[in-house]
Amino acid sequence: MRGINNLKFIVDNNTGKPVKWLRMMGYDTLFFNGSDDSHMVATALKEGRVILTRDTQIMKRRVITSGQLKAVFIKSDKPEQQMQQVIDTLDLDCQFRPFTLCLECNQPLQEKSKQEIKDLVPPYVFQTQEQYMECPACHRIYWRGTHWQAMTGKLEQLVKSSAGKTD
Ligand SMILES: [Zn+2]
Repeated sequence: MRGINNLKFIVDNNTGKPVKWLRMMGYDTLFFNGSDDSHMVATALKEGRVILTRDTQIMKRRVITSGQLKAVFIKSDKPEQQMQQVIDTLDLDCQFRPFTLCLECNQPLQEKSKQEIKDLVPPYVFQTQEQYMECPACHRIYWRGTHWQAMTGKLEQLVKSSAGKTD
């Protein structure tokens, strides 16, 4: 299943936590914050996105039961277990395209030189980090600092425990 990793997602607002994790892995992920589920389903169909939801009603829709549209019913309300389930079910690769999407806007990040970001990051970061990315929408600067490493480490653990599972 590793071959079908070019997945895109739309995450229901009852299941918000996987959004940033998926973006961190490099999966194009929208957060659906509307109230009309039909809009979410329509967007998923139009853009070929997998729905992640905790809403059983959505799972009963014909487009989903017929297999025309893929949706994952998220069982847990705990963020880590939610992410674990998504990784297990879709066999996601945490090394897919890390460090490529803005965690807030889902926009592809653009590489920046050290000179370009010199005045935009704390001095200790500038001294210790070599690679920087900027979001063209919100202009956040990303680097592989401690927060990033903590998230990546957690993800790798989830993927590992997924691979090591026997049941
Ligand atoms: Zn952004």
